[in-house]
Amino acid sequence: MAKLSIRDLQLNGKTVFIRVDFNVPLAPGGKEITSDKRIRASLPTIQYALEQGAGLVLASHLGRPKGKRNAEMSLAPVAAKLSELLGRPVAFAPDCVGVEVAAMKLKAGEVLLLENLRFHAAEEGNDAEFSKQLASLCDVYVNDAFGTAHRAHASTVGMIPFVSQAAAGLLMDKELEYLTKVTDAPEHPSISIIGGAKVSDKIEVIQNLLKISDKLLIGGAMAYTFLKSQGLPTGKSLVEEDKLDLAKELLATSGGKLMLPVDHQVSPEFKADAGNTTVDQIPDGQMALDIGPKTIEAYVAAIAAAKTIIWNGPMGVFEMLPFDKGTMAVANAVAEATDQGAISVVGGGDSEKAVKTAGISNRVSHVSTGGGASLEFLSGIALPGVAALTEK
Ligand code: AMP
Repeated sequence: MAKLSIRDLQLNGKTVFIRVDFNVPLAPGGKEITSDKRIRASLPTIQYALEQGAGLVLASHLGRPKGKRNAEMSLAPVAAKLSELLGRPVAFAPDCVGVEVAAMKLKAGEVLLLENLRFHAAEEGNDAEFSKQLASLCDVYVNDAFGTAHRAHASTVGMIPFVSQAAAGLLMDKELEYLTKVTDAPEHPSISIIGGAKVSDKIEVIQNLLKISDKLLIGGAMAYTFLKSQGLPTGKSLVEEDKLDLAKELLATSGGKLMLPVDHQVSPEFKADAGNTTVDQIPDGQMALDIGPKTIEAYVAAIAAAKTIIWNGPMGVFEMLPFDKGTMAVANAVAEATDQGAISVVGGGDSEKAVKTAGISNRVSHVSTGGGASLEFLSGIALPGVAALTEK
């Protein structure tokens, strides 16, 4: 996957189009940004391009405006926030295409943020004419929006044939570096930990990780579909009845690599205070909401021996105490293994929340910024937004 990096580009005096991920959470009304994490994550690429003497056109989507203008999903508050973070003016364009935008010629050091790409249905429709208009705004293209790299949209794929060079930004580069490291010839033992709500969301990931991992530890609600497929009791636990055959087949073909929970924290209800008991077999009328202590011990031992670790999805309902123990134990084990020299990559979404709650975000090698994109990458699916970039 030798794609051009922004570091390979000659940027001095050029206008660079950077597809960023400014899909930030906004308070109701759309005026106040409640977390600027994504804006901060793009700063290294933006600052690097400015230092190299480029003028920048920044573009992103925000929310799901479904091809229509929506004042509550405007990127205007992001322009103000970015200006504050960069300590320099950031101009804001009222649209992402059209004569007005095309007329805004940028000088070196100037930054222009375009209005929400998804105000045009042509963005998600990957329309050629729209793509051409976006491409006409720049000399070279950079994609730093890993979180949307699994989507073939105008700003991530369509405009690339119309630019001279298309490179990965620094954030995208880091994502690809770590995800490639743990999937292409990983150091052994290589352990994957997969949890979360549904088997159905992660079938391809499990299938692909079975090919590259020495062991795959299963936790979260999806474990109960696997257990039921083996004829074990699951009480009121979440089970995907229509995935029992698939779970059975995955177990049968896994070559003994799949590890399942051997004990559980159960409760009669999906509630924090409805009581919780440790059991080896889930009784009728009880639901398993976390892995039990024997499972924790086995999983922690497997993680401690690992040289490569991939983690996606919590081991239990970690948002609801006391059902966070399995997830927290796994998080700490991953941090300790990383301290001992293992490479660890944690998927986005709930896994990111879990490492943050455990306070170990800085003790893992890489926390992915893209939930869906990292899942697709780990499934072995080529990301269109990456595939489209120029070869080195
Ligand atoms: P995912 O987005 O697939 O990674 O799933 C994360 C969600 O799975 C979290 O909200 C967890 O609360 C939930 N979850 C994990 N374990 C269980 C469980 N045993 N029963 C019900 N939900 C669970």
